Amino acid sequence: MSFEDPANAFEVLKQYESLDGIDVKTLMDSVSRGGLTYNDFLMLPGKIDFPSSIVSLESKLTKKITLKAPLLSSPMDTVTEADMAIHMALLGGIGIIHHNCSAEEQADMVRQVKKYENGFISDPVVVDPSQTVGDVKKLKEKLGFAGFPVTVNGKMPGKLLGIVTSRDIQFHDDNNTPVGEIMTTDLVTASGSVDLLAANEVLRKSKKGKLPIVDEQGNITALLSRTDLQKNHNYPNASKSFDSKQLLCGAAIGTRPDDRQRLEKLVQAGLDVVILDSSQGNSIFQIEMIQWAKATFPNLQVIGGNVVTREQAASLIAAGVDGLRIGMGSGSICITQEVMAVGRPQGTAVYNVTEFAKKFGVPCIADGGIQNIGHITKAIALGASTVMMGGLLAGTTESPGKYFYKNGQRVKAYRGMGSIEAMEKTGLDSNAATSRYFSEADSVLVAQGVSGNVVDRGSITKFIPYLTYGLQHGLQDMGVKSIADMQKGVDEGTVRFEFRSPSAQLEGGVHSLHSYEKRLHN
Ligand code: IMP
Repeated sequence: MSFEDPANAFEVLKQYESLDGIDVKTLMDSVSRGGLTYNDFLMLPGKIDFPSSIVSLESKLTKKITLKAPLLSSPMDTVTEADMAIHMALLGGIGIIHHNCSAEEQADMVRQVKKYENGFISDPVVVDPSQTVGDVKKLKEKLGFAGFPVTVNGKMPGKLLGIVTSRDIQFHDDNNTPVGEIMTTDLVTASGSVDLLAANEVLRKSKKGKLPIVDEQGNITALLSRTDLQKNHNYPNASKSFDSKQLLCGAAIGTRPDDRQRLEKLVQAGLDVVILDSSQGNSIFQIEMIQWAKATFPNLQVIGGNVVTREQAASLIAAGVDGLRIGMGSGSICITQEVMAVGRPQGTAVYNVTEFAKKFGVPCIADGGIQNIGHITKAIALGASTVMMGGLLAGTTESPGKYFYKNGQRVKAYRGMGSIEAMEKTGLDSNAATSRYFSEADSVLVAQGVSGNVVDRGSITKFIPYLTYGLQHGLQDMGVKSIADMQKGVDEGTVRFEFRSPSAQLEGGVHSLHSYEKRLHN
């Protein structure tokens, strides 16, 4: 065949025995080299013949739950409470609420997530018709806004009679007049089943300041405000329950006897998925907890872990888990491998566990060690269905805690749940944080985590889209249109890998500059 003719390029390609690069099995089979982490390899590019915007990131969290974005926030007390869980779900992922608190506090956070309706004020201030103009003027002064729905009983929910607005009271000098006499009764309302997009449209067209949402009996159930109109983002990817329109919510518990009562409270609050939180999941306590939880709450999805070997995974799969969480020692705040001498490099752990679990249709979470978008793409290429992040999300507005300045940088505290600080929060008798890293008989706390700070990353309403757009671009570079396509390509050997030597890793980072600023997104 002639090399003179460029048209022969594809013909010449066919003469090679295999595709360029290596398949995933060859990458991972190199036992003598030892375990691999995300930085040790790369995927090779494929062909781009579609826009990145069409790349689907849909992936399974558990046997029964599919997410539009394969992203989870860690059950840690500096990462996931109600605000984080609400926004993770709005953006297509899911938040797992930590258990370093009382069962009641944790259930209350689950309830807040389940009750949340984006843009709708579900608990507006209402007045009764016998309250006076003077009362409303005082309320307006105290709250800084006017426009109060008037209900028969002055309560929520209650039969809606009208709205008392600024205009109604502005030039009304007699402060003793009951609001029932001056309220606006010419109302535009929307029915309880309306979604945010449609409700915003009604509000826009009505030119009114407020849009009450009412049920079939005429009771007000929520309120939409014109001042919020611009802020009412629509979240088309939001993770919601099949049956209700409520956001999905996860929570973590331990495997002690008290955790059964805790789980009952969480399920009553509407919990969709529970993660059994243990650094070494292959224990008799966890196996019994899985069996009990699956028998007691058939609709609850149960995720077991953590595991890093296929033998550990087999125990929990046999016990009936709906999902697995993979990782031991890879977390940014983690000193488990150093202290316990047990663990596994995360790339190898993800590959070996997922290769086994997928035979049983059990989706896996790659937990810990995610430092950038590339790590998410790699975890999924190795077989994970979703990834869990602690440190990457701890510096966002939605994580618990306040920002402060350290050496001129705006930071937030981030600590391991096995750090002395987290374990001491509830004391040695607690059944919460300590249960993950500490057994009852111990009288000395042996830390498996550290306490530190992470830099301000702004709101996750920007940061999660940055991660998902980046992930879509990564898949586009590989020439695959979805996570499912990529994993099929990895299995069939069409998505190719390459080992990265230490000098290749240096070459792949920023180098040879006098100085630079690393801005990750606008
Ligand atoms: P990161 O995303 O690398 O910061 O890792 C977060 C993960 O580290 C969590 O989801 C846990 O699995 C794990 N983790 C949390 N606290 C500790 C700890 O104190 N020691 C070890 N691992 C921890």
